[in-house]
Amino acid sequence: MQILSLNVGSSSIKFGVYDMVRETAVFESHVDRPESVPAAWSGILESLTQAGVGPIDAVGHRIAHGAGDYARPVLIDGVVEAAIEHWTPLAPQHNPGNLAGVRLARARWPGIPHVAVFDTAFHRSMPAQASTYAVPEAWREAGLKRYGFHGTSHQHVMEAVARHIGVPASSLRIVSCHLGNGASVCAIERGLSVDTSMGMTALEGLVMGSRCGDLDPGAYPYLMRTLGLSAEQIEKALYEDSGLKALSGISGDLREVEAQALLGNARAQLALQVFGYRVRKCIGAYAAAMGGCDVVAFTGGIGENSPAMRRRICQGFEFLGLHLDDGLNESYRPGARLPVELQQAHSRMKVMVVRASEEWMIARETFGLLKQSGNGLVPGGNSSIPVAVSAHHVHLTQASVEALFGAGYQLTLEHELSQAGYWAASETVDVVAERGRINRVRVLGPCRETNQIEITRTEACRIGIDAPLRLSGNTDDTPTVTIVGPAGKLRSNGLIVAHRHVHASPADADRLGLHDGDRIEVTLGTSAHTTSFADVVIRISAGAALEMHIDTDEANAAGIPHGGEGVLVRADCLATVCRCHGSAQPRPQATIRGSGPASF
Ligand code: ADP
Repeated sequence: MQILSLNVGSSSIKFGVYDMVRETAVFESHVDRPESVPAAWSGILESLTQAGVGPIDAVGHRIAHGAGDYARPVLIDGVVEAAIEHWTPLAPQHNPGNLAGVRLARARWPGIPHVAVFDTAFHRSMPAQASTYAVPEAWREAGLKRYGFHGTSHQHVMEAVARHIGVPASSLRIVSCHLGNGASVCAIERGLSVDTSMGMTALEGLVMGSRCGDLDPGAYPYLMRTLGLSAEQIEKALYEDSGLKALSGISGDLREVEAQALLGNARAQLALQVFGYRVRKCIGAYAAAMGGCDVVAFTGGIGENSPAMRRRICQGFEFLGLHLDDGLNESYRPGARLPVELQQAHSRMKVMVVRASEEWMIARETFGLLKQSGNGLVPGGNSSIPVAVSAHHVHLTQASVEALFGAGYQLTLEHELSQAGYWAASETVDVVAERGRINRVRVLGPCRETNQIEITRTEACRIGIDAPLRLSGNTDDTPTVTIVGPAGKLRSNGLIVAHRHVHASPADADRLGLHDGDRIEVTLGTSAHTTSFADVVIRISAGAALEMHIDTDEANAAGIPHGGEGVLVRADCLATVCRCHGSAQPRPQATIRGSGPASF
């Protein structure tokens, strides 16, 4: 099973494909400073193709801000996409890019699970004393809270350090320093994040490439009043024109700042001092907050690559028992797969470098969720099926079309449906029975040999008819209703409630281990809200698009949003095969007499 991880950051897009069975990276790459995610997208796909990575079974997405909504990874659907968009004001440099990646990837791989892994999730363990801002209650109720970021990276540091030392994380106090273009420090006490330097947004805390870090809140009204700056101007400057970039006047990239500092540039030297000092303060504070510290760990582009910055940060911590070994620090070569210790032999506290591995962590979390939701994913394939919600509609013979719309009338194609050869017509009819009427029922094309009227159980009750549950094409002994068109009306049998079913091509069926006529059980929805449907009939035909069709009653029962005018609306939800009874199982055949054309 291969999982693609997509980590859209503020200054880069990192991505990787991981074999979850062998637990190895198949391919890893990144795009530095892309103009935008859509602009970089074709290059990403191209590099995956060139690397020959093979089929992708699921995609894990790094999502920066999930606020308090998500403590764990979730399957992405429309609701999750809306939440990511909703929290954009709290992560304006991240969530829009994350969402763009989600949308592009879901469009490229529509039939597989996409999982959101939130940066904020690891910090949900922060106690109130660390996560609460001392502001009016109404503001706190409006969401002002310290959420923290880089959670996936800090969690990875914790696990890697504990594994390396050979003790459980629950017996360690770690200060994890993720120093990259964005930077944060995290206090991890006995396996839990208890404080972190980023707060409600990714601006708080350390000095970063172009972000300011801590700033007296009194500065904002001052800037507004004295410089006449708007909130938008201030926000943009704090994210994009502050940090190392502003201090050095050179760049937000530490490499360039360090190079200029070595040449004697005073602004660059000050930038390094402010950057290092802020990290030092934070480490000291977190050691105090945890009542001690066993390991200070560095990760991220700066943490892994700049021995000078590590030295700057670590100096003066001898009173806490931290003694950096300058030789080990200088000789460390980035990229080591395992954590490397850089402290002197007698140092009570360890100093380590841990190679950042957010993409692997995202893949692992994604895999974990898929396994946990018990969706029957099998190595080398996936069992997820796109879902479409079918609203009431009719199939008509050409003779009926002429009776309802006029002699010689031809249906007008309005739009194609996902199943090749089937389309929604512009025309609608009314379906009338003794106790009621269903207006504007869409006609589907092309014309058929027999009329068939598909409505929901709720509608059948409303018009007072006991419509049988049938697979499309089986209209023997079905009730008769009146169909009313603009040019006439007719009486016709063929009223059914469509049996939920899955369309599959022979190749998809093979991959999923399904046979025509199988009745399977599937789970629909996200990990937060799932509904199981038993007795879903498999319909295999050449060229069929893999899709599960349920009607609006069933969608409502499963809490799947649909709506709009569409006759067959692709839902933001995947069905996952949980149990296949297989063709060998005795199947109740009563409702599947005949096997006419598939419903769409
Ligand atoms: P992010 O994931 O936040 O986009 P990274 O963790 O990839 O950022 O870190 C990128 C930053 O790491 C660069 O902007 C640069 O400041 C720093 N960096 C990378 N290589 C070096 C190096 N050899 N020396 C010093 N700093 C480096």
